[in-house]
Amino acid sequence: MIILKSRREIDRMRSSCKIAIEILLLLKDMVKPGVSTKDLEAIANEETKKRKAIPAFKGYHGFPSALCCSPNQQVVHGMPTSTPLKSGDILSLDFGVLYDEFYGDAAITVPVGDISEQASKLINVTEKSLIKGISKAVPTGRLFDISHSIQTYVEAHGFSVVRDFVGHGIGKHLHEDPQVPNYGLPGKGVRLKPGMVLAIEPMINQNSHEVRVLQDGWTVETCDGGLSAHFEHTVAITDDGPEILTRL
Ligand code: MG
Repeated sequence: MIILKSRREIDRMRSSCKIAIEILLLLKDMVKPGVSTKDLEAIANEETKKRKAIPAFKGYHGFPSALCCSPNQQVVHGMPTSTPLKSGDILSLDFGVLYDEFYGDAAITVPVGDISEQASKLINVTEKSLIKGISKAVPTGRLFDISHSIQTYVEAHGFSVVRDFVGHGIGKHLHEDPQVPNYGLPGKGVRLKPGMVLAIEPMINQNSHEVRVLQDGWTVETCDGGLSAHFEHTVAITDDGPEILTRL
């Protein structure tokens, strides 16, 4: 069941979403060679506490950390480690908070030091595909219009869309209906309505779309060892079109 949010509820979600993106951008500035993802996790916890919010992922189905840190071939749900980041890495950071009863969820992929041209292209295409998808989050549109515009943009640039993990509705629960795949046919899926709030999150691989979950039960990585990037915004559908709530 898709839970529509009132204007007042979307106002409240703006607060949780602002906290999530503020902290992510602060972490982005910290990313450099020599820093570990455990260092980032510590800052994420500290900054969340300062803002009187609660990390959304920590304890979610037993997930151990506030931050999902997925370097290089890791796609999503990687865990913080003490391994120092090195120049040439790319790092996906996914972060959510609970504040005033509502969740906010966002993700970015950041370069560490100097990265290859191909890695840079993957990051740019993934971020732009998210913007393409968001542009279709309009009333009277259909859900898979979002999916399709992400897929066509990504595939036109020679990359592939992860199938096994998708975006989601968000509100008083971290994951609500509907699921938001990053691939699909235009004109299909539920009709989009004002009051829907969606976490749209393309996960894009350099080579094959195939992924596997590691033995830790969480970390998802590409089967072929190619790079993967991830961007996410929490987006409200309004009468005036899409509003990105996780934007400062
Ligand atoms: Mg999400």
